[in-house]
Formats: sequence, C-alpha cells, structure tokens
Amino acid sequence: MAHQTAPRSTADLSPRRPGLPARCGVRGCGCEDPRQLRNAANAVTVLRTLASLALVTVAAVQHSWPWLLAAYLVYWIGDSADGNIARWRNQETRFGAVFDVVCDRINCVSCALVFLQFVDAPWPIAVFLFQFVVVDLPLTLLPMRWPVLSPNYFHLIDPLAYTLNWHVVAKVTNTTLLITLLVVLPDHQWVALVAASTVLVIKVWSLGRVLRLTVPKDTPHVPQGAAARA
Ligand SMILES: [Zn+2]
Repeated sequence: MAHQTAPRSTADLSPRRPGLPARCGVRGCGCEDPRQLRNAANAVTVLRTLASLALVTVAAVQHSWPWLLAAYLVYWIGDSADGNIARWRNQETRFGAVFDVVCDRINCVSCALVFLQFVDAPWPIAVFLFQFVVVDLPLTLLPMRWPVLSPNYFHLIDPLAYTLNWHVVAKVTNTTLLITLLVVLPDHQWVALVAASTVLVIKVWSLGRVLRLTVPKDTPHVPQGAAARA
C-alpha cells in the first residue's frame, strides 16, 4: 500500500500552540484540531441546516416542488460549502466533523420525507433512509475513534473503507443518486431500489470492516505508516 503520510520524526513535532498537542505534520491528523466551536465553517453548517429545514417546511405545507428543490439545493450546496470553508480557512475540527454529519441527517431525512409527497416511491426511500440513518450514521461517526480530524482523512487508517464511504465521489453519490434516479426514471423505480439496496450492502459491509479495525489508545496522532489491522 502506498504511504499517504509524510515521514515523521520527533524533530517534526512543533509545539507552537499552547494547550494543544504538538503537530506531527501529517495532514488530517487529530493533532491539527484547533478546538474552536465558533468559526465560519460551523456557522455555515447551522445556516444551511436551518435554511433547508425552513424551505422543506414550506414545500410540505404548500405542496410545492420548487420549494423542495430549493431545500435540496441549499442542503447539497451548503454541505459542500461548509467543508470547503473549513479546509480553506484551516478550521477543520473534530467537533465540526461530527456536527456536520448529524446536520446532514436532519436535512436529508426531512427532504426525503417531503419528497415522498411528490414521488410515490416508499420502498426505495425506506431502504435509503434505513441505510443513511441506521447504518451510515454510526459508520460515519466510527472514524472519530481514531485521532483523525474527520472521516475525510480516514484514508490514513483504512484506504478501502475511505474510498467506499468518504471519498467525495462516494459521498456525493450517496446523497444525490437515489433522488436523481427517482426524478429521471419515475416509472422504473426498481432501478432506484436496486441502487439503494446496493449502497445498503456496501454500508453494512463497511460497518463490519471498520468495527474490526484496531483502535490505537491514548495518542493524539494517527498511527505511523500503514494502519494496524485486526
Ligand atoms: Zn499528529
């Protein structure tokens, strides 16, 4: 396996920040957490969550497609924006990572339930919601057992689980594919059901895999080199 971590020596450990662990220089290691709650990234997460909730409520009350589309767009664009702002401004925190994951469930579940008012697809939506809330929520919180900034850096621990679940392509696919299929192919819901079921299988398999990985104890840094596997 290719090493994605920079070589680390004790000489690299720079203690510049009082009260925080010395940085080891590995991008995405938990030691980079600036431990701030109030920052632009978390503000965007709050705003996009509340704005999407407001829009989806209007969509439900007025039975309006355009308002639901607006709710989805605010959720999708805002979810991409909060992560990018965090990266650009060096505001990635472990708190922000967990907060974002929880807010994703609020926006996604509310939008999917109102989507059912417009497209009668209970089975594909039910499989998706089970996958996203019952399997993917705990799965996406599990990486926080390791000293990483967020699941976006889980390639430092397990490249396969990362690629299947937290690579940007995997994340965008999981949040947009089902709705897109149901909108584009409303008369062929079996396609959406097969897609939702396939993702569910991958998520259950990933959950089992990540649960079996060995978690290091009492270190603010990711393990050096290839991750220790069970
Ligand atoms: Zn570190």
